[in-house]
Amino acid sequence: MSDLKPITGQTKLFGIFGHPVAHTLSPFMHNAAFDAVGLPYRYVPFEVPPDRLEGAVKGILPLGIRGVNVTIPHKEAILPFLDQVDEEAKMIGAVNTVEVISGRLIGHNTDGRGFLESLFEMKVALSGKRVILLGAGGAARAVAAVLAQQSIAEMVIVARTAARGKALADRLAAISPGLKVSLRGADWSSPLPADPDRSTLLINTTPLGMKQEDPLPFPIHLIDSRWSVADLIYRPAETALLAAAKRAGSQVIPGLGMLLHQGVLAFEIWTGQKAPLSVMRQALQNALSFQDFRSH
Ligand code: NAP
Repeated sequence: MSDLKPITGQTKLFGIFGHPVAHTLSPFMHNAAFDAVGLPYRYVPFEVPPDRLEGAVKGILPLGIRGVNVTIPHKEAILPFLDQVDEEAKMIGAVNTVEVISGRLIGHNTDGRGFLESLFEMKVALSGKRVILLGAGGAARAVAAVLAQQSIAEMVIVARTAARGKALADRLAAISPGLKVSLRGADWSSPLPADPDRSTLLINTTPLGMKQEDPLPFPIHLIDSRWSVADLIYRPAETALLAAAKRAGSQVIPGLGMLLHQGVLAFEIWTGQKAPLSVMRQALQNALSFQDFRSH
């Protein structure tokens, strides 16, 4: 862990609203980034229970807080408390970054583009791809909304709760009317549609894989060596799904990339400066190995 510059009378505050928030890695990457570019800013976690969200948001301006991230369970609930929400956050239906401009609170969502950046960084080509999206929750919505605007061939949504899957499919139809979207349950007794080009991007957006005892979110014998397999989970850094995909010879995209790039985009919104990418990546990797060390 690096030593941070001292807090002084000039220090400005940023943070993250969540519940629970104790395990967030965002302070590590943002504080390292502020120090690296010489900004007198600090980023702290705020434990905000749902019934305190409105009060916490109302406190942003009087306390002089310059910007916040928003995480579980507040990404949708915060919408009515903001002065403005940008087009991307409206399209996703959730906010993960709040910017303060001239006394107004502006909502953004950098999750989807953060995921996209993590794919681009790994040189995953999206054109003509079939995307299999496991899960239909908040993160799935952000990821699916930005992917629907790329030149993918089709999206298969795999949802345990049919109503949630249908709501996501309807949202995608509105965002990208020409996109072929199909919906299926999370039981794998019926076969997957054929994939003659073997050009599939499989994305796990469920929490299955966070715990060692979790079942796999997808029947791994179906994974082909020409697939790309992404997992949004970043702790553990390599889930059982990614380990299996690697064994099958597929390209794998770990969740840390999305966490990093959504943070990079938030930093750039708040500061108007280019984010120090390698500093932020290193800070996240250090924080993860530090936490792994402490939990053993
Ligand atoms: P969420 O809104 O609760 O959605 C979770 C989705 O997974 C829902 O569709 C849920 O189905 C499904 N699901 C949960 N347990 C399941 C199970 N046992 N079998 C099948 N489906 C199951 O959560 P979220 O905010 O989208 O987060 C999902 C994951 O993404 C978490 O692991 C989170 O840490 C990760 N994430 C990572 C990043 C990053 O930067 N890398 C960013 C955001 C989220 P139901 O609707 O039936 O409950």
